[in-house]
Amino acid sequence: MIGELNKGIFITGTGTGVGKTLCSSILLRLLRAEGIDVVPMKPIQTGSEIDAAGNHFAPDLDFHLRMAEIEASAEELKLMNPYLFKPACSPHLAAEIEQRTIEFSGITEAFDELSTRRKFVVVEGAGGVFVPIDSKNTMMDLMLELELPVVVVANSQLGTINHTLLTLEALKSRGINVSGLILTDHDSNASDDFIANDNTELLSKIAGVPLLMRVPFLSEISVQSISDVSTNFQKRGFGKSLVSSLTANKLIDSNLAQLRKIDHQHLWHAFTDINRFENSEDYTVIERSKGSYLIDVNGNKHLDGISSWWCANLGHGNKKIISALQSRSREIQQCILGDLSHSDAIYLAEELAAILPGDLNHVFFASDGSSAVEASLKIALQYWWNRDVQGKKRFIYLANSYHGDTLGAISVGFIESFHASLTDFVWPNYPVKSPLTTDLYTGNGKDWDAESFAPMEKLLVERASEVAAVIVEPLCQAAGGMRIYSPDYLKRLRKLCSELGVLLIADEIAVGFGRTGTMFACQQADVVPDIMVLGKGMTSGAFPMSATVVTTEIYNSFRNADPFAEKNRTFFHGHTFSGHPLAAACARAAIKVFKDEKILELLPEKSAILSEGFVQLAKLIPGSSSNALGMIGMLKVPAESGGAKFAAAAATIARSLGLFIRPLGDVLYLYPPLTTSAVELKRMIDILGEGIKRSLSNPGKV
Ligand code: PMP
Repeated sequence: MIGELNKGIFITGTGTGVGKTLCSSILLRLLRAEGIDVVPMKPIQTGSEIDAAGNHFAPDLDFHLRMAEIEASAEELKLMNPYLFKPACSPHLAAEIEQRTIEFSGITEAFDELSTRRKFVVVEGAGGVFVPIDSKNTMMDLMLELELPVVVVANSQLGTINHTLLTLEALKSRGINVSGLILTDHDSNASDDFIANDNTELLSKIAGVPLLMRVPFLSEISVQSISDVSTNFQKRGFGKSLVSSLTANKLIDSNLAQLRKIDHQHLWHAFTDINRFENSEDYTVIERSKGSYLIDVNGNKHLDGISSWWCANLGHGNKKIISALQSRSREIQQCILGDLSHSDAIYLAEELAAILPGDLNHVFFASDGSSAVEASLKIALQYWWNRDVQGKKRFIYLANSYHGDTLGAISVGFIESFHASLTDFVWPNYPVKSPLTTDLYTGNGKDWDAESFAPMEKLLVERASEVAAVIVEPLCQAAGGMRIYSPDYLKRLRKLCSELGVLLIADEIAVGFGRTGTMFACQQADVVPDIMVLGKGMTSGAFPMSATVVTTEIYNSFRNADPFAEKNRTFFHGHTFSGHPLAAACARAAIKVFKDEKILELLPEKSAILSEGFVQLAKLIPGSSSNALGMIGMLKVPAESGGAKFAAAAATIARSLGLFIRPLGDVLYLYPPLTTSAVELKRMIDILGEGIKRSLSNPGKV
């Protein structure tokens, strides 16, 4: 592990007037004295002042620059204070009075620019941690947005313990990293004040963060007095310890080689060729994730083009989901759902039933997709057994289907190249030709070919008496190569299943929760399956959770008139973590985010960007075909252009340029968080295009 200086630090306080500006100037001087190229930033200044030429300026920033004797260009000055307001009040009110909006992107972009020019930025907040920036965000949201550790400034004297501990508690509960505390004396007697001295001692013991320094009272504030205090601190070695405490928060394991070594010694990666992975140069190790980004141990940001295995539909670290997880985890963790219940699972089941189509009313929870699929197959088989219907022991599934990796799931998604070793252990079911896709059917208005349903129709009519259920991935066979197909296929399938007495299982694990543009893909075909399987996007990846949801009719077939009767219809199936309270809390928060943040309403504009982007990408490769639906965009590379090898080479280049993608054989695709911004989406498409262009111009490497 090595220490590396953060890009900056955020100075906040227990309130207004505690000495943030003074302390920021002292920190600036101390860091400069340690040879660090440091500059101040005051992202939001209210109460602007007017200089001799009649121009408004930010007084706090001006103070920092004068006191720390820092020179800055006019361009830098703008970056140091992106938002300046005349009224001297809270930012939310000042912005309202001036009818302006404070955009976090304006602040982060200025910070990023400043921090590339200078080594370190001391950012001073406004007021305390809960000071509102607008109706949604507080100063703490800005700290999280800037991803900076925080220093809290507090008065050393009477009343400070409560304010300081409340501030630290609030920061901790939002997961904000606190580098330390600075106490400031506010009158000339403070150094002898027994309360201030006791506060200092007590807080250094119980605050749970280092006490960085106690700043003495300054009877006169001037460059000289601040320089004297700083020199004094520096002589006592405070500068060095300050630098080390600011770096301590960025104790990153940048020894990537070491991490990779341990990885190869002990970690087994899913769906990954061991030798290729061990020898691969292009993989990194991720430390954090945020929004549309994965951030590696060296602090590099990678756009997550596939939502971390199709889960992070609402982006990584969605604030509302994380806050539900944090607050609920203090109250409950695991709780059995057999013969007992808990409110998280109860409310989640109710909320799912409310948003699911038709009478899909009864929810059985599990933790991953495969086990939810497994439950759906068992439920279908037992449903017929419950009803004393003989002979329905088989399933029909589409070729190119993927429903998970357990033995039941691969029995309805057998892939010769993956499962050859298990041929003797899967039970015989009926694969049927997949619906036509991409080149023949596009979501862009071309008619679908009704003939595409013929093989399914033939098989169903012939085998209905043996078939318990048909299982499909509605609208898009995801792992099979993002094969997007017509809603008409689903409509016809639903109708025929009902006519022939066969259940329909819709596996919406990959396509549910907004992925295809509607909350559930079945809704685009106006179809209600008998069983729906959910997973992945349910919690946006914050906690593992999946569910198998059935109609009331199916649920009721599992009731026993007499629990001790010989034929017991109870569903003898369950998972330890079924309906886990914290997973359920995350899923409930996710459903609320969909509604509150109008996620689906905002999708059409992004879908259009993705769809147009893939049309353009397809033009780069002769003979390729592309398609898009909701937040899925795919491009199939023809064999004559190198197929899977070409896709792998283009993906490797895209990764090196900051986009994490993982082709499915010869299919390059994007499956980004639904919350990805238009700018990020265009960037993903540009990087993918760059990967393709460079692979085309260097065919030797493909
Ligand atoms: N069904 C579908 C449609 C899937 O895409 C997946 C996962 N890719 C699964 C089932 C299996 O889910 P899990 O990996 O969570 O077991």
